[in-house]
Amino acid sequence: MAHTQLAVIGGGPGGYAAAFLAADEGMEVTLIEKEPRLGGTCLLRGCIPSKALLHVARVIDEVHELNKDWGVTFSDPQIELDKLRARKEGVIKSLSTGLGQLAKKRNVTVIKAKASFVDSSTLEFEGDDPSIPEGGKLTFDHAIVATGSVAAMPPAFQIDSPRVMDSTGALELQDIPETMLVIGGGYIGLEMGTVYAHLGTKVSVVELTDGLLPGADRNLVKPLAKKLEELFEGRIFTNTKVGSLGDRDGKVEVAFEGPNKFGTFKYDRVLVSIGRWPNTKGIGLENTQCVVDKRGFIGVDKQLRTADPKISAIGDVTGNPMLAHKATHEGRAAVEAILGHPVSFEPAAIPAVIFTDPEIAWAGLMEEEAKAMGKKVEVAMYPWAASGRAQALGRTDGLTKWIIDPETQRVLGCGIVGPGAGEMISEAVLALEMRAEVFDLTSTIHPHPTLSETVMNAGEVFFGTATEIY
Ligand code: FAD
Repeated sequence: MAHTQLAVIGGGPGGYAAAFLAADEGMEVTLIEKEPRLGGTCLLRGCIPSKALLHVARVIDEVHELNKDWGVTFSDPQIELDKLRARKEGVIKSLSTGLGQLAKKRNVTVIKAKASFVDSSTLEFEGDDPSIPEGGKLTFDHAIVATGSVAAMPPAFQIDSPRVMDSTGALELQDIPETMLVIGGGYIGLEMGTVYAHLGTKVSVVELTDGLLPGADRNLVKPLAKKLEELFEGRIFTNTKVGSLGDRDGKVEVAFEGPNKFGTFKYDRVLVSIGRWPNTKGIGLENTQCVVDKRGFIGVDKQLRTADPKISAIGDVTGNPMLAHKATHEGRAAVEAILGHPVSFEPAAIPAVIFTDPEIAWAGLMEEEAKAMGKKVEVAMYPWAASGRAQALGRTDGLTKWIIDPETQRVLGCGIVGPGAGEMISEAVLALEMRAEVFDLTSTIHPHPTLSETVMNAGEVFFGTATEIY
């Protein structure tokens, strides 16, 4: 029977990062992916295609803004869906092909088939792809489960309708519907809603809790909620539940139950984005010693080891936050642990970014979280209205916020809302990893005029020395 030192199941950002590092470290590696291309959710139907489309949405928005009163007028954009889709596909293809080449260069064996565990040291494969080893089985010394997640679709929403989509369907951009309802006010729904709204769809959002982006810092959410209220023309229904969906006469009938929207309404399309489920069913985990919790996430320790001594798990299957960079870092840590290197996956902060406009980014401890823990913190906020660069860009709706330990003056968390927040948060993550004090921020010279200055300025607010530099 074919044998490998390390079998990695899943070719997403967790799986390929683990496979490539293990090969670089001299291991003999087999990477197994059930889809024809490497890249996983992130590359094929997540981070990358959504950002390619969001870029277009942003440019359209900027043109609208300029048209208002900047003294430059552009005509309305003409949208060619075929070209838009082709560009997005081109980006995916180029990156996925690159991953294939990187695997080849490292002599990583790639099997294109669905794998499942027969026992704690054997995998079997479905299908008849020529890459499947003879006998359809593979034994291993170590395995890493990196099978990712899928969009949650509760039974009430599982209707037979081409008009009800998950994020994968929405990214296919089959058409620009006249109306679309986004069920779920989380980041995926808001990102996709932003794309469709800028392409011309009348987007509505329904959210079960009392605000968009449940769990995110309210100071950060406020400017985004205001902008989205405008973009979606007030059609954001919070505290509202969708009871059922039905496909009738070429429309989706949606039953709302809530104080802000009640009754049945029709939409051309519905996007269900209410979270993600780990891909841990049907992969034979019951034939191993791996322990899975009620929601299907695999339990791991700080070395990403499961309860089965031969099997590690990384990425979305290990639980929140379900983010590509978390998967990648866990993948690398899992390999280091397998190699016996001293390693522990205990990051000071895992940044989260919502690529809407404005963007929201945060890392480390947030204000609400600190309050819930009963931890005494000081909050220093710098509104972008005081930033010369933000004024020049016409984007004074931003805010930079530090959460600080008042006794040690160490920074504990950072949140940013505004264009480019996702790029700016890395400075905060470095500060958190290096256990920086506020003085480290304020004494670091930031280039002027940049939005990144606000990271320093918010630190100055803590000392009461912030200046407004125009
Ligand atoms: P995945 O990327 O899901 O990869 C798992 C792979 O395993 C898949 O390719 C799957 O086909 C394969 N697989 C599953 N079962 C088997 C099996 N039995 N045998 C063989 N192969 C199998 N994250 C960010 O950090 N930033 C973003 O901007 C962002 N945007 C997103 C936008 C959308 C619309 C979505 C849906 C997600 C987004 N995410 C984003 C989340 C991100 O995509 C995931 O956190 C990340 O892909 C998880 O990586 P992973 O390696 O754990 O799993």
